Amino acid sequence: MPVNATSSRPRGRSRGVEPIPRRRGDESDPAQPGARPRAPVWTVLRAAALLATAPLAACAPGDREAGALPPTRAERTAYEQTTGHGEVVQVVTLAANRSEHIHATTFGSTVEGRPLPLAVVGDVADARPASVVGAGRLRVWLQGAIHGGEVAGKEALLMLLGDLAAGGHAEWSSSMTLLIAPIYNADGHERMGPDTRPYQLGPVAGQGERANAQGFDLNRDHMKLESPEARALVRAYDDYDPHVVIDLHTTNGTEHAYHLTYSPPLHPNTHPAIDALLRDEWLPAITRAVERSDGWHFYYYGNLPFADGAEPAWRTFDHRPRFNNNYVGLRNRAALLGEAYAYAPFDERIRASLRFVEEALAFAHDNAGAIAALVEAADAEPVAGTRLATRAVAAPSDAPVQILLGRTEEVPNPYTRAPMRRRLDVAEPTEMVEYGSFAAAEGGVEVVPAAYYVPADLAAVVDLLAAHGVDGAPLDADATLAVEEFVVRTSSVTDRPYQGHRERTVTGDWTPVERAVPAGTLVVPLDQPLGRLVFTLLEPRSDDGIVNWNLVDDHVGAAGSVYPILRRPAEPQESAPRD
Ligand SMILES: [Zn+2]
Repeated sequence: MPVNATSSRPRGRSRGVEPIPRRRGDESDPAQPGARPRAPVWTVLRAAALLATAPLAACAPGDREAGALPPTRAERTAYEQTTGHGEVVQVVTLAANRSEHIHATTFGSTVEGRPLPLAVVGDVADARPASVVGAGRLRVWLQGAIHGGEVAGKEALLMLLGDLAAGGHAEWSSSMTLLIAPIYNADGHERMGPDTRPYQLGPVAGQGERANAQGFDLNRDHMKLESPEARALVRAYDDYDPHVVIDLHTTNGTEHAYHLTYSPPLHPNTHPAIDALLRDEWLPAITRAVERSDGWHFYYYGNLPFADGAEPAWRTFDHRPRFNNNYVGLRNRAALLGEAYAYAPFDERIRASLRFVEEALAFAHDNAGAIAALVEAADAEPVAGTRLATRAVAAPSDAPVQILLGRTEEVPNPYTRAPMRRRLDVAEPTEMVEYGSFAAAEGGVEVVPAAYYVPADLAAVVDLLAAHGVDGAPLDADATLAVEEFVVRTSSVTDRPYQGHRERTVTGDWTPVERAVPAGTLVVPLDQPLGRLVFTLLEPRSDDGIVNWNLVDDHVGAAGSVYPILRRPAEPQESAPRD
């Protein structure tokens, strides 16, 4: 099978199996070197900057101007406004001009053609994935505005970039390369209005929309990859192979006393060492540092039940890998979700996001070798024969925990008079059960097979696996194999459409059979770095896989039908899913 020349992900144990080639169209992405001759990525950003504003025109890397970056729109307007996409592109370009440790590139473009800017910060020759991966340091990806109206993280990343351009945190370049993507959902971000985030305390001049230009929530698109933005992001994860991903949001809903809430990956199939690192060390270290420096409380993300009369409990969101942090976890990478508190003033939200990022990076710098080693060990650990979850339920804490509830007052938006909520400096410690993690649902456990056999005519499935960077190889000759086949017992879809789908759930059983498998069938081994992800995509009962997202509806719509993907069982290992 032809090697995909653009891929740089270390593939420790693929044993000769290579990435499934991506479809042709994907190769034209301007951020991806190697696929074809192309203009330097500098050119793309410079052209955009020159169009947008003459005074900020980029200069050659040789004549950099030292010093701080000009204030952003948020800073210039006393935080009444947020910084737009064009200016974000300028800031990234200007930062690269100011510092030899910063390189400007893009990692894709949006539905409406906006470039997705990326600043590569570290001791690397240029922004190409090969240079970044070749530098051998810990790679940390930081992203803002996956939801276009949640803009505090984007502003925080621009401030961080300004600090780095002015020579701040110089010690980090010895241990890390930072990949800063401040404005991921650029199209949604630019659809600004005063009422896109009801009750959020500013920016009072308005902010963008949650969805992308297709109407997709990009933070539900990490498994099905139906947006060009998600395809570009996952490709960047594959090519730059960050060990760590930090994804910055703003809360909705519950009034609490935390300036920021956070989450590790929540899928029960997350490697336990990643979960332990984040819960036992990394997130507590951030919490302690910010309490010391700012007197602010940070805690795990949660909401009280929305229904009246429900027992108070602190409930996190969801385990499914359609969400960024959960997806990153299934790729054996450390993920930190940060949610600035919607009812804190905009400038405080930005600072809370910035302090979260700074302390997360300080920990990453101090523990860079250990984090990289942990991730690489997770990649090398076989999953075939282990027991993993196909579906999960929220698990209660062993004992009640103390949650700091808060209060707000209503204030009018000075321009629209629409009500906003402002946090009061009140913390009410309240005992309640916490549902902060997930365990396999009853009957929702499978022994991970050795391999799946994907028929070549399931083109959408083969394409999706390639887009995720999964390894596989076509069977080179017809074969009769002892495999397992899944027969559907029940098949149902949700009543309401969600993200353009009626999500499907099947029940049924795998049974041993002998089957003629034609040459060209894609053989996808589970003992590969993305084994946990492959399992969650291809197990038919998975609550976030190809069956759920209707990719094989023609095959599994009725009782007695047969799932078209076969599997080769593995010897069960002595392990159980983490609960
Ligand atoms: Zn969000």
